[in-house]
Amino acid sequence: MSKIHELSPELTNQIAAGEVIERPASVVKELCENSLDAGSKRIRIDFIDAGLKQITVQDNGSGIAKDQIDLAFTRHATSKIATERDLFNISTLGFRGEALASIAAVSHVEVTTNNDNLGGVRAIFSGSEKKLQEDAASPKGTKITVSDLFFNTPARLKYLRSERTEILKIVDIVNRLALGHPDVSFTLTNNGKILLKTNGRDDLRQDIANIYGRQLAEKMDILKGKSPDFEISGLISDPNTTRSNRNFISLLLNGRYIKNYRLTQAIMAGYGNKLRPRRYPIAVVKIELDPLLVDVNVHPTKQEVRLSKEQELERLLTTSISEALEQNNQIDSGLNNLLAPKKSTNIDQLKFNLNKDVVNTARPVEFTPRVEPDQSAEVHETAADFVSLDQVRNDDKYVITSTWDDNVDQQIQLSPFDEEKDIQGKDDSIILSGDEILANNLPELTYMGQTKSYLIAHHEEDLYLIDQVNAYRRLAYDQILQDLNSENISQQGLLSPLILDFSNVDYLKLKENLENLQEFGLFLEDFGQNSLILRTYPMWLQPDVEKNVRMILDLYLNQTEHDISKLKAQIAGEITMRQSARRRMLNPVEAQELLKELRNSSDPYQDFEGKIIIIQLSKNDLNKMFKKDE
Ligand code: ADP
Ligand code: MG
Repeated sequence: MSKIHELSPELTNQIAAGEVIERPASVVKELCENSLDAGSKRIRIDFIDAGLKQITVQDNGSGIAKDQIDLAFTRHATSKIATERDLFNISTLGFRGEALASIAAVSHVEVTTNNDNLGGVRAIFSGSEKKLQEDAASPKGTKITVSDLFFNTPARLKYLRSERTEILKIVDIVNRLALGHPDVSFTLTNNGKILLKTNGRDDLRQDIANIYGRQLAEKMDILKGKSPDFEISGLISDPNTTRSNRNFISLLLNGRYIKNYRLTQAIMAGYGNKLRPRRYPIAVVKIELDPLLVDVNVHPTKQEVRLSKEQELERLLTTSISEALEQNNQIDSGLNNLLAPKKSTNIDQLKFNLNKDVVNTARPVEFTPRVEPDQSAEVHETAADFVSLDQVRNDDKYVITSTWDDNVDQQIQLSPFDEEKDIQGKDDSIILSGDEILANNLPELTYMGQTKSYLIAHHEEDLYLIDQVNAYRRLAYDQILQDLNSENISQQGLLSPLILDFSNVDYLKLKENLENLQEFGLFLEDFGQNSLILRTYPMWLQPDVEKNVRMILDLYLNQTEHDISKLKAQIAGEITMRQSARRRMLNPVEAQELLKELRNSSDPYQDFEGKIIIIQLSKNDLNKMFKKDE
């Protein structure tokens, strides 16, 4: 063992920095939280590449006094708490006094700030060392530029994910900060392109429209609730508007985005059994409470907190959500009687316009020149950058309904498709060769009759019972998979093209993958403002094209491995479940035809979920049952 020695301050700083600053998104989070704590009403975040090259956060908050710059960059120096008592009564987002020190330990930082007292100041830090401080003109507020993140800790870089993932993490964190602070205007750009813009008019619905898409925002229900210790508010989706993961549930505790499994479960519980299995609502839930009731000092990134009276809060969440859903339900059913179904007019005209508009409606790209420190940049925006709920969007004339409902109207309740189950996607045609039929080993059956539930058939002296619904499901699944795999998926024109809104994160992902999506028969085009447009669709997407398109995109976005045939199998499974399979009496010709098709299917014994289609009672089995020895 070598001798024990104290670590250098640089090294301790780097070690400590590792806890707070894991990735570019952590820098964005810490800088934005400081801006919010400084009372800013406008925050602008610009980053280059995935933030590794440069991140700039500019605010119009209180600014930092000239003689406090050094302290701001000193570890455990903060203006936000002073005594032990304060530690348990935190009303700011920061309090540990380590973010700026941590960031400066692993990057080059330039700060320009003005607190309106003695004029502005500019300072540069690099790898924990101060390089420069000088007077400089600056508007009131603070601008911090972080360059070459992890330049001196290259090992960190290895743990970063792809550039796209890091960008999405930045977008995600800014989304949540913006949702927690609708009274603050956020602008986020990457390489000069706007990724998010909120107007700061304290309108949560408007912000949700900017972040998750307008059609969704318009449909969300108002959440309100109060108990002695807590007050909750926000917007929640109806049980039919869901996603396949929890990421769209945001919990904001006194404006702080937190992760908390139990509170998330309490929200889900409010939906009761109205949610399909493994579906999650979209919810932005704000919780206001006395800061004394929450301990934020349990994790360096402060996303996990410890709550007193957590059960009271869980109950409040569950009951308020179920009440909100119930109320809305009543309103809905009343309204349905009054509203005439929307109709689209003049279809030819519409197509013509749409072609033009695809080019014109793309969100304007604002290029942000790199601003030299003395060219004090104001945080500003133009109206065109917002997705506005007030404005009539230019696609509104094409009445396009966006029900994101995944309510499945089925005759027979079919259990949900099991993603984990390993389903074999057959790449080739499902018309099997003779050998494969032998492998399947189902002999040619002769139809005999039918009970209400089962078809009865025989082959020689063996008896076969066939479940009609499961048989149909096998055939439907095979057919859809075959269509999905066929080279030229034949397309049907839509009378009114579908315009689909997305969250900014999903939009970015999908926009990059438009070509890959053609694999699934979806020829989507960019329509700007977080939306895509679809003019044609493959036949098998009927009857509810939009619902099925959403389903495919949802599966695509949430796939963990990029396995096209697995994804196709999942899609075929989902669509099969959405088709209603009816049990009915068949005439002998139909029944015989069904048996023949079944024999040619990829697996006549079970459907795609492993549900049994055929039971065989061989002559032997029957003899045993009748207690005959041969
Ligand atoms: P903490 O936020 O936990 O106090 P930080 O290292 O993030 O610690 O910041 C240190 C101090 O620098 C803050 O307490 C605050 O006084 C000051 N500061 C940092 N960023 C800003 C900003 N954007 N505007 C005003 N003051 C700031
Ligand atoms: Mg801070």
